[in-house]
Amino acid sequence: MTGGSARRIKNSIIPPLPHHTRFYKPSLKASPIPQPTIIPRPEHTISRANISPNAVKVLYRLREAGFRACLVGGGVRDLLLGREPKDFDIATDARPEQVHKLFRNCRLIGRRFRLAHVQFGQEIVEVATFRGQSGDGEDGDGPGVERTASGRILSDNVYGNIEEDAWRRDFTVNALYYDIDNFVVLDYVGGIADLKAGLIRLIGDPAQRYQEDPVRMLRAIRFAAKLGFRFDPATEAPLHRLGNLLEQIPSARLFDEVLKLFLTGGAIQAFELLRHYRLFGWLFPATERCLNHQQQHYPKTLLVRALANTDSRLAEDKPVNPAFLFAALLWEPLRERMKPLHGHGLSDTEALQTAADAVIQDQIRHTALPRRYSLPMREIWDLQQRLTVTAGKRPLRLLDHPRFRAGYDFLLLRAETDEQAAELADWWTRFLALDEPGRAQALQPTKTTKTGKSRRRRKPRSARKGPQDVSLHPET
Ligand code: ATP
Ligand code: MG
Repeated sequence: MTGGSARRIKNSIIPPLPHHTRFYKPSLKASPIPQPTIIPRPEHTISRANISPNAVKVLYRLREAGFRACLVGGGVRDLLLGREPKDFDIATDARPEQVHKLFRNCRLIGRRFRLAHVQFGQEIVEVATFRGQSGDGEDGDGPGVERTASGRILSDNVYGNIEEDAWRRDFTVNALYYDIDNFVVLDYVGGIADLKAGLIRLIGDPAQRYQEDPVRMLRAIRFAAKLGFRFDPATEAPLHRLGNLLEQIPSARLFDEVLKLFLTGGAIQAFELLRHYRLFGWLFPATERCLNHQQQHYPKTLLVRALANTDSRLAEDKPVNPAFLFAALLWEPLRERMKPLHGHGLSDTEALQTAADAVIQDQIRHTALPRRYSLPMREIWDLQQRLTVTAGKRPLRLLDHPRFRAGYDFLLLRAETDEQAAELADWWTRFLALDEPGRAQALQPTKTTKTGKSRRRRKPRSARKGPQDVSLHPET
């Protein structure tokens, strides 16, 4: 996953509002207001040059086929704020099957919301058909809407027009449309005013909208954290008390959301907000328990440093690794699990493996943790034990371990809050700074000089690369 979403691409934020601009406050009842506020092209900052060429291609192909096509969501929001959008979402009156017919490189996905994904190499342009109003409760749901007893929407495939679509979106700042037909921005819900005021405001009745889809609570936190926005009071109030609704959400969806919360910028703010609104514990209960028993700010400091590091790597456009993030998030639960295992005749490695199994089993009941991440996470943990050996041949062998870099970086992270780890990290940092003969000498000074063994050894990979910089995430 690459970052960059937090980067500003130009200074201009939102242009002064035109005189004729009218704003509608979203009422608590989600009743559509047919006339949008229209911001004409010269009065906003979105230009096709800032939209990904692939998204522009999709917009035009839809239009040429006679459909309405608008850029919507984060693309419009972020461009108006002078930020670089993470991805480009498109809304259209074409049905998913019609979109599918127009693009060879298109897949239909999703049960809850049927969507078209148009794939261009690594980039996916998401095309959603305008949603209709009949999912909104009071008169009962129409066909195409399925809910649980608590009101959670299981599927919502009722199609409608653009006005209705705007009211089905989550936050006002996410419901702005850039129309490819005439390059105007359309605002049905007061999104421009909220963008200017820096407000995250749910469209419609907040408690009901959170109940329909509890992930909206996490999205609220994510946008507030990433954009530095405040919550509208009505949007904020239910956050404190509805965390338990997250229990109903499939763990795979929560995993995706956790990655977006922590690996797309604003990770520290997201973490602080999640804890403030008592949502963090519904995602990471074992970590939350450890945080509640922390001593002298540990383990919070370790986590905050890991998140800060993630943010700075993203700001520098360096890759970030979910395995490293999860290794940090679950480190303290792992240590807690290991404590009673010592003294039961288990070796350190056995204790670690047993504890790691238990921590992962616990965690995947809340957020998924695919093996492609849990395996490297375990290796990072395992390396914390292996790195304690600083004599003999093992340190040199360890340099060739595929996860060495991540393990060492994790040790550096621990070193910031743990004296023993700091000493060890110091040793490794000095060791890595040595050239090959220096390393051999540091491990076996007399023997190495006499036998010249180290010269016969294949050069460790890290030594071949030259001196290493000290960063927190593995590039692998
Ligand atoms: P980003 O892409 O930067 O994470 P985004 O706002 O584009 O932010 P997406 O997840 O890409 O978020 O979704 C695109 C748009 O779809 C949103 O802006 C919003 O209008 C709508 N949307 C997404 N998820 C929901 C939801 N759970 N409920 C209602 N509308 C949603
Ligand atoms: Mg998006």
